[in-house]
Amino acid sequence: MTNTDTVDAVATAIQVKELALAGSELVRITVNTPEAAAAVPYVREQLDRMGIDVPLVGDFHYNGHRLLTEYPACAEALSKYRINPGNVGKGDKRDRQFGQMIEAAIRWKKPVRIGVNWGSLDQDLLAQLMDANSLRSRPWDARQVMYEALIASAIDSARRAEDLGLDGNQIILSCKVSGVQDLISVYRELARRSDYALHLGLTEAGMGTKGTVASAAALSVLLQEGIGDTIRVSLTPQPGESRTQEVVIASEILQSLGLRMFVPSVTACPGCGRTTSTTFQELAKQIDDFLRAQMPIWRERYPGVEALKVAVMGCIVNGPGESKHADIGISLPGTGEAPAAPVFIDGEKAMTLRGDNIAKEFHQLVQSYIEKRFGQGVNS
Ligand code: SF4
Repeated sequence: MTNTDTVDAVATAIQVKELALAGSELVRITVNTPEAAAAVPYVREQLDRMGIDVPLVGDFHYNGHRLLTEYPACAEALSKYRINPGNVGKGDKRDRQFGQMIEAAIRWKKPVRIGVNWGSLDQDLLAQLMDANSLRSRPWDARQVMYEALIASAIDSARRAEDLGLDGNQIILSCKVSGVQDLISVYRELARRSDYALHLGLTEAGMGTKGTVASAAALSVLLQEGIGDTIRVSLTPQPGESRTQEVVIASEILQSLGLRMFVPSVTACPGCGRTTSTTFQELAKQIDDFLRAQMPIWRERYPGVEALKVAVMGCIVNGPGESKHADIGISLPGTGEAPAAPVFIDGEKAMTLRGDNIAKEFHQLVQSYIEKRFGQGVNS
């Protein structure tokens, strides 16, 4: 999701482009004001001009019914609408305003994500469920009632949308919470009780390592169980950090689980007392950065390159063995070893690099391997 002001169509389009080039296959943008809604078609236009066809999802809260009705070009330019049933209005306005958003989706033939979030849960529904719970002979604990409120809000809203004429295949549900165990429990139950497509995400996961690990832990359990059709990692960026970090993490989660391939993988050892120089760390980073940076071009030029496996190892203990398992791998000399770096290609030792230009030469070997194996017409 972008964090630009959508009113600034150029800045928003640039960030959407960055996210798309990093591997995002859907980008959500905030549509919170009439000015933002008016800017959406220009964001789409800028992206089309740049050759970026990533679908845009509009994130609506409170006034989405008005924006989707009064700004038809916005409704048309978006590829999906995110509706938060906890934020569509109160009392008798809620059903009417939710209905207006669903009518827009039907009119423009767009799918909707009914995105419940425990930070903005429908309070009327929660109060009703709390009251009903108090009448139980053995009341549930408050957490279980909250789970039920999240799930009921999503499923009831989806059924209401279907009653209004929206095809069930055009509905995606999400129930985001910020606790790992809570998320797993809620989605298991949601998957058990509905056949709608599900969007996964640990909301407000936090910053850096904490947010990354928590997101990976929660999403991996669910994905491994076959739960989830789209995912998002919600990280608070460090000041100055690229917004694309959450896309990198999301794609790494899918790739680590073997569900999707996005970029060639680099196997590198952690290093130990046998590697007293930083040579192999630098080479591993350079290769990883190089492969990621090239992917926007390589996706088109070298079909299948994302399945490439490269190994950069620190010494002969595991270096040759791990390098043989990769498509192309190098085992650098550890402390006290002869200054030679055997290179393995397709499991066979192909050559030994020596001297001061090992990194540069290995770079070139990786590039020529990719060209030979994945270049047009010679993809094996
Ligand atoms: S491959 Fe060598 S340098 Fe790397 S962790 Fe193993 S023993 Fe240490």
